[in-house]
Amino acid sequence: MKAICKTNAEAGLTQIRAEVPVPSTNEVLIKIIKTAICGTDLHIYQWDEWAKNTIKPPLVIGHEFVGEIAETGEGVTHYKTGDIVSGEGHITCNNCRNCRAGQRHLCNKTLGIGIHRNGAFAEYMTLPEGNVWPVHKEIDTNIASFFDPLGNAVHCALSFEMVAEDVLITGAGPIGCMAAAICKKVGARNVVVTDINNYRLDLAKKMGADAVINIQNENIPDYYKKLRITNGFDIGLEMSGQSEALQELINHMYHGGKISLLGILPNKTTVSWDKIIFKGLHLKGIYGRKMFETWYKMTQLIRGGLDVSPIITHKFPADDFETAFSVIKSGNCGKVILEW
Ligand code: NAD
Ligand code: ZN
Repeated sequence: MKAICKTNAEAGLTQIRAEVPVPSTNEVLIKIIKTAICGTDLHIYQWDEWAKNTIKPPLVIGHEFVGEIAETGEGVTHYKTGDIVSGEGHITCNNCRNCRAGQRHLCNKTLGIGIHRNGAFAEYMTLPEGNVWPVHKEIDTNIASFFDPLGNAVHCALSFEMVAEDVLITGAGPIGCMAAAICKKVGARNVVVTDINNYRLDLAKKMGADAVINIQNENIPDYYKKLRITNGFDIGLEMSGQSEALQELINHMYHGGKISLLGILPNKTTVSWDKIIFKGLHLKGIYGRKMFETWYKMTQLIRGGLDVSPIITHKFPADDFETAFSVIKSGNCGKVILEW
């Protein structure tokens, strides 16, 4: 089969021919139909510090996918050949305190597909049956190909009561843009998105944001009058991974406000702790998606009319992965899909 692989400990990716994997007990073999590219895949491509410390080549990368069950291993009971599926890329231990409490997103022994074991950028991939998510027939496979990051956005947005709240999202990447659409759908009053890239701010606007702000040449409070905001924001979603953005968010939160931290901030990030303390802010770290409540919610949100399709800006055959990665690198894109 064809696969996109990190073959050596250096920058770049290679398309290789590999053996079709064999599903073990309780695993399914998935014939991949579409995959989407995540910022993490770009980190692996570029071989940055995180990638050097995490990835052990050779490794087939990729974790955002939709496919069809091609074969079921021994013991598989819920799926059959031909089922259209996506899946949770975090493989949890199923034995720790949190797993056993039904809080698999908090497992401390999580392994990632396309990170710690071969992933989805290939014609075939194996996955434990317990990680498979059946794609409802009403859901387009283009959308299902990026259920993973849509789930990050859903998990963040549903972390706090949204109805009638004013929400500030820092970062109009694919996840920030999708979060804007979700917040509106679940009843936020104002959804404001910041970024430094106008292409992405336009996307956030298309996804339903009430206001988009290029933080390089505009100030957030200048929008308060138009949006009829008096005291700042009730909910903040940090989706840029930039220290300055987190500080900006903290500055503009109302007292008692709640912040979801999704963006992977540098460890050296410093913020005004006095503001967090005196405003009585709540901060919540978000990793992945709830298994499988987030998957259920995103399925029903979409079936109920949530439209995230404007976030798809590019599609390429998998053979053109180099072009696809250069588009991701440019930042002038939403979700970029590879067709297998
Ligand atoms: P992305 O990198 O495509 O988007 C980040 C956006 O932030 C970019 O559009 C960038 O221009 C913008 N930005 C840069 N500086 C900014 C500033 N000062 N203020 C506002 N915006 C600014 O990322 P994505 O794929 O949308 O993911 C969002 C973040 O979430 C990333 O940091 C990613 O690493 C992280 N992530 C976390 C998890 C998790 O489980 N915690 C999962 C997936 C992604
Ligand atoms: Zn566990």
